[in-house]
Amino acid sequence: MLDATGLMVFYENMLALNNVSIRCGENQIVGVFGANSAGKSTLMYTLSGIMEDIRRKEEMAGGERISVLGRINYLGEEIMDLKPAKRAKKGIVLCPERRRIFKECNVVENLRIGGYLASAGQAKKTIEYIFKIFPALEKLQKRIGGFLSGGEQQMLAIGRALMAQPKLLLLDEPLLGLSPLMQAVLVRTTKEIREQKGISIIVTEQYARPVLPIVDYAFILENGAAVLEGGRDELMNNPDVRSAYFGI
Ligand code: ATP
Repeated sequence: MLDATGLMVFYENMLALNNVSIRCGENQIVGVFGANSAGKSTLMYTLSGIMEDIRRKEEMAGGERISVLGRINYLGEEIMDLKPAKRAKKGIVLCPERRRIFKECNVVENLRIGGYLASAGQAKKTIEYIFKIFPALEKLQKRIGGFLSGGEQQMLAIGRALMAQPKLLLLDEPLLGLSPLMQAVLVRTTKEIREQKGISIIVTEQYARPVLPIVDYAFILENGAAVLEGGRDELMNNPDVRSAYFGI
């Protein structure tokens, strides 16, 4: 479904992505694991097209020179030149790191904003689905975003992304800063979303362990480069990988 090759991103002279190639098949969950600053968010921005927006804005403001190179094939089409809104319309939807929900809007308003491109019927159905998979959110419909807990904000951020009717959902560090219990809820729901909606998912995390059981395939990023990749079992059974990346 998505095949990105030779992605390179420079912030001025700093190489943030170094010739990264990653793939995600139809109905797959693909993990991208790496330490702080490995390049995970830069990769997600590049796939969703937001990197290109950041690059243009910096250029117009005379700020840092950002270069973005490589190819992204999505559903048989080259999309590297498409703006993020066009990519979103085609089904590539980013759920950004640190949630970025609209803190002054309530839960339902946040969801409606996410669904502004969807038809009224789609939006209604999707809100019902979101409340089914995240019952906690249904009870908090009128709660202002800024007053939600971290876990509730993450559920809302995923819900808002679902409102945009994704075919490929990009989850950037969804578990960041959450309790093990909340992490388990989110991991389980991520799997359900794939199974029930047939949505493909690329998920980044610093720690592979909580997410590894649900991924089909994973890539490991180090200093902007993809240093390892493999199927879940293949990575799990590699003793070096187990100790270095999974803390097992
Ligand atoms: P984290 O877990 O901290 O979010 P990450 O793996 O998502 O890390 P990125 O945010 O993609 O990493 O950053 C990759 C590298 O690029 C880091 O060294 C970071 O400092 C650098 N970087 C990110 N954004 C910019 C920017 N706008 N200008 C300069 N350098 C940047």
